[in-house]
Amino acid sequence: MSAFENQVAIITGGRRGIGKAIALKLGKGGARIAFNDVGQPEEITETVEEFRSAGIEARGYLVDVTNRDAVQKMIEDIISFWGRIDILVNNAGITRDGLFLRMKDEDWQKVIDVCLQGTYNFTKEVLKYMVKQKYGRIINISSVVGVMGNAGQTNYSTAKAAILGFTKSLAREVAARGITVNAVAPGFIDTDMTRRLPEEVKKLWIDQIPMRRGGYPEDVAEAVAFLASKASGYITGQTIHVNGGMLML
Ligand code: NDP
Repeated sequence: MSAFENQVAIITGGRRGIGKAIALKLGKGGARIAFNDVGQPEEITETVEEFRSAGIEARGYLVDVTNRDAVQKMIEDIISFWGRIDILVNNAGITRDGLFLRMKDEDWQKVIDVCLQGTYNFTKEVLKYMVKQKYGRIINISSVVGVMGNAGQTNYSTAKAAILGFTKSLAREVAARGITVNAVAPGFIDTDMTRRLPEEVKKLWIDQIPMRRGGYPEDVAEAVAFLASKASGYITGQTIHVNGGMLML
């Protein structure tokens, strides 16, 4: 039997980058996959088709993680189709970098809204079903900069650090109900988010990584899959760092 047979997994921001790698990993492990993002409807349809042609049962939603009503409808729709939700991966995230003195209010707020409020919105809507099932795996995607800070990313590192506090507090609240809540903190991973950085900034990051390279989305997906599996049942409130040795705690 596959690791995630008969399970339903939601991956926010699952059409590109790390989220897509997670969706493919869990889907190939037998999970039915629901994902959302804010792209064009036809892009979502294409991704659903791609997942289906890889043998994955998939549903895609054009839902902004910051829109609580839309999130609620998405979750209700998944429940009406599949009847359960076993795994939630809060992955959707954005950056709007800039030094704090020059940071625009809207860039501060937008990053907090997508990275942090989005995590709240999905968890709030999904948790009640996990409580009824007495089973659930919640995995929140944080970041190395949520732990070590990064000049130019006060908004992003604040949201990503808050996700770690959220993970630990919620883990304590629901541990006795068969639900684990953990975080994965990626380092520098090769996706659209990092590809658009100037070459000199990329070099500064790579120079800090003992493995001398960025990670792949699949590296993060492996850690998520472990935390999403039944094998990790006695692990909660923890963070797995996937960073090539950039930060050792
Ligand atoms: P990408 O920019 O490649 O992908 C982000 C995904 O999130 C896209 O699918 C995007 O949708 C979606 N998304 C963005 N805003 C929203 C929104 N408001 N509602 C719904 N979906 C949204 O990022 P990565 O794959 O690199 O990052 C994934 C996660 O990993 C993020 O939380 C990021 O902070 C974190 N991370 C990434 C690191 C890296 O080095 N890449 C390092 C550490 C953490 P759309 O396609 O529609 O834009």
